[in-house]
Amino acid sequence: MIPVVALVGRPNVGKSTLFNRLTRTRDALVADFPGLTRDRKYGRAFLSGYEFIVVDTGGIDGTEEGIETKMAEQSLAAIEEADVVLFLTDARAGLTSADLAISEHLRSRDKTTFVVANKVDGIDADSACAEFWSLGLGEVYQMAAAQGRGVTNMIEYSLAPYAEAMGITRQDADEDGEEVREYTEEEAEAEQERLQNLPIKLAIIGKPNVGKSTLTNRILGEERVVVYDAPGTTRDSIYIPMEREGREYVLIDTAGVRRRAKVHEVIEKFSVIKTLKAVEDSNVVLLVIDAQDGISEQDLGLLGFALNAGRAIVIAVNKWDGLDQSFKESVKSELDRRLGFIDFARIHFISALHGTGVGHLYESIEEAYDSATRRVSTSMLTRIMQMSQDDHQPPLVHGRRVKLKYAHAGGYNPPIVVVHGNQVSKLPDSYKRYMMNYFRRSLKVVGTPIQIRFQEGA
Ligand code: GDP
Ligand code: GDP
Repeated sequence: MIPVVALVGRPNVGKSTLFNRLTRTRDALVADFPGLTRDRKYGRAFLSGYEFIVVDTGGIDGTEEGIETKMAEQSLAAIEEADVVLFLTDARAGLTSADLAISEHLRSRDKTTFVVANKVDGIDADSACAEFWSLGLGEVYQMAAAQGRGVTNMIEYSLAPYAEAMGITRQDADEDGEEVREYTEEEAEAEQERLQNLPIKLAIIGKPNVGKSTLTNRILGEERVVVYDAPGTTRDSIYIPMEREGREYVLIDTAGVRRRAKVHEVIEKFSVIKTLKAVEDSNVVLLVIDAQDGISEQDLGLLGFALNAGRAIVIAVNKWDGLDQSFKESVKSELDRRLGFIDFARIHFISALHGTGVGHLYESIEEAYDSATRRVSTSMLTRIMQMSQDDHQPPLVHGRRVKLKYAHAGGYNPPIVVVHGNQVSKLPDSYKRYMMNYFRRSLKVVGTPIQIRFQEGA
């Protein structure tokens, strides 16, 4: 399971600077869900082989009395859900009473906490940081988030216990294309058959009230679905193994349906962190959108997160019942307009309440999974690369023709194609896009993002 790292600290210590550096802002999901505080930010970070979810909990102003009342409920919830807390302080400003109040709270929660003294650039760091030891939370890490100094070290240190579980060494090897093996035609086919027998991990996600619970119940209540026992912890989504027409699934239930049916406990219905973890742990994401609401920023935020995680995606526009024709037309044109960037994903119009269209979701889910995990031989990828080159020659760079040599697979879910050749790094983006689309069409890749990487030489 992917760890969740919460950035905690009083305002102005550098939390969002660190957040932006860790996520490079590209996939920051600003939580603006009903009932949640607006300024909380969630992002996906990838650093030194470590993958994690980072949460900027917003400023906690502990200077006033009663830290509990001053910390927003969601901020506390973020700390509760976090695996690791990075407690940021300002080395220039020194220790403040707010820092003390926050540290007291963190100590009482018994969380894995690291004290980070930020803004150590241009000052005598050792003496400035000495006083933070008195927080009683152990070692004090020196960092200058604005310059990026100390950031990698701190992450490597604080996430070290997760290294093995994350297969850090393997992942690093993947990056160099060593571990992902190349297949002959026969091997690719055999591997394909094996994959068909693995369960598809399907995360059903969406903002509150779009109909996730109704849909999950509908799926689980279906005659053709065999559901197995699903034990689970209270904090995370429930994993429900099931089988349908000979194909195995694990349904990742972010809505908490199964738990509610079994145990009478109050569970939080919607949690961004739970949703993001489910996305990370899935093969395919089923994003549920409420037709009556149209497409909201929250929907786009979740979609962006799933995309950046490289997940296969199917979109279900729910509550399609009882809408008049002109409303349906307007929803469809809005979808065209706002979801154009993800034109590879299948869109279904369903009614979870009445069951209409639900059965057809499986076809797209399986298609997306198969596309995302399909093993393709090196010879076929090289052939496709060659055809794309024949159809449309790469441009000249410094008077010399860029020469593509061969292509092989560099990863799956999402599929990655690695193309080797001379001067390939100089190819213009337009040509890279052309090739990506060529691979997508030739391999009939549907429902998943696809990546193409270029490597110099043979
Ligand atoms: P937040 O309120 O905790 O999210 O703090 P911000 O990230 O907004 O940072 C507050 C201020 O501190 C901004 O003006 C940043 O540019 C500055 N800052 C952040 N990190 C550093 C750093 O490493 N060194 C210095 N000198 N300033 C920093
Ligand atoms: P969740 O928060 O995403 O799990 O949403 P729920 O499944 O709890 O549904 C929220 C509300 O929408 C409930 O009142 C449902 O009865 C209603 N609802 C769910 N699916 C449909 C649908 O297909 N059509 C209509 N009309 N209402 C629906």
